[in-house]
Amino acid sequence: TSTKKKSYNITLLPGDGIGPEVVSVAKQVLNLTASLEGIEFKYQEMPVGGAALDLTGVPLPEETLSVAKQSDAILLGAIGGYKWDANEKHLKPETGLLQLREGLGVFANLRPATVLPQLIDSSTLKREVAQGVDLMVVRELTGGIYFGKPRGFGKNENGDEIGFNTEVYATYEIDRIARVAFETARKRRGKLCSVDKANVLEASILWRKRVTMMASEYPDVELTHMYVDNAAMQLIRDPKQFDTIVTNNIFGDILSDEASMLTGSIGMLPSASIGDSGPGLYEPIHGSAPDIAGQDKANPLATVLSVAMLLKYGLQEEAAAKRIENAVLETLDKGFRTGDLFSTGMRLVGCKEMGEEVLKSIDSQR
Ligand code: ATP
Repeated sequence: TSTKKKSYNITLLPGDGIGPEVVSVAKQVLNLTASLEGIEFKYQEMPVGGAALDLTGVPLPEETLSVAKQSDAILLGAIGGYKWDANEKHLKPETGLLQLREGLGVFANLRPATVLPQLIDSSTLKREVAQGVDLMVVRELTGGIYFGKPRGFGKNENGDEIGFNTEVYATYEIDRIARVAFETARKRRGKLCSVDKANVLEASILWRKRVTMMASEYPDVELTHMYVDNAAMQLIRDPKQFDTIVTNNIFGDILSDEASMLTGSIGMLPSASIGDSGPGLYEPIHGSAPDIAGQDKANPLATVLSVAMLLKYGLQEEAAAKRIENAVLETLDKGFRTGDLFSTGMRLVGCKEMGEEVLKSIDSQR
C-alpha cells in the first residue's frame, strides 16, 4: 500500500555495567515487534553515566540531552559502577541520571509491581498473599521535601545544631501528577488510591483536596485515600487491594521500593518517567549490577518490559506492548530463567539466550 509506515525516533542510552547487554536485547525486541506491527523505529545511541564520563568528562553530555529531547522516547540501561565510585561528587555517573530527568522535565515516575504466576515463589510474601498482585505506583518525582526550600543547617534558640527541609507542593504540581495517575488507572483496572499524610502535613491536605477535585473528571475511576503509614502496612498485609497508587516524592520513593520487593525479582521490574510533553524515559529499576556485568548473566526482561511500557505509555502502541508482555510470559512458561530467577527444574539461560527466546515467542504470535 502507499500508506507510510509510522516511524518513531528512539534514543538508546545503554550506560554502564549490564546496561549495554540488556539494551541490546531490548533493541532486537523493538525491531521484531515493529516489523510485525507495521511500524518503524530509528535509533540514536548516546553515552550517559560512567561511559560518558570516560568519553567526555561529564556524566550527561549536552549532545546526549539534546538528542534525547528531540526523540519520541528514551530507553536507558543502567548507570554507575565501582570504577567511578571514588570520583568527586560532581563527577558521579549517577548525577547524569538526575540531570537527565531534570532536563526532560519528567515529573511522574511509574513503577509496576506484578507477581507473575510463573515467579510466585520469588515473592517475599506467602503464596496466598502474593497471588494476583498487580499494582502500579505513580510517584511525584520533581517536587516535595527533596527539593523544597528553605532547606539547610542552622541553630535553634537553644544553640543546638539543626538540619531542616521543607515539604512544598503547589497546585500545578499536584494537578499534573494526579492527571497522570487518573489516566494510568483508566488504562488499568480503574482504581486509584491516593496516599498522603493529611492528618499531619499541610502539603498533604492540599494534595488530597486537589486529587479529590480532579476525580469528577474521571467518573470511571474509583478514588480512595489512605495515610502513608497504613499504606505501608496494607502493601504487606494485602497488596491485591491496590491497582494504581499515587503519592508524593518521598512517600513514593519508599512505597515503590517496598512494592518492588513484594515481587522478589529485581531483574523483572520496569519503570517509566514521564512529563507533560516531550519524550518519556524508560528504564529497568535495577542498577548496573557490576558484579555480573560482561558475563552474559543479566536478566534482560526488566528492560524488555520497559520497552513494553515505552510502547504503551509513550507511543500509545498498546497492541505492540501487549505482544511483548505476552512473549515474556510465554518465555517464562517454557521454563527459561536467568540466574537471578533460577530454581531446580527450570532451564538456566544467559542474557542473550533469554533474549532469543523472547524473540522466538514474539515471532510465533504472527
Ligand atoms: P544501584 O545503586 O545502581 O541500584 P545496586 O548495586 O544497589 O545499584 P543493582 O545494580 O541493581 O543494585 O544490583 C543489586 C543486585 O541485584 C546485584 O547482585 C546484581 O547482580 C543483581 N541484579 C540487578 N539487576 C539484575 C539483572 N537484570 N539480572 C540479574 N541480576 C541482577
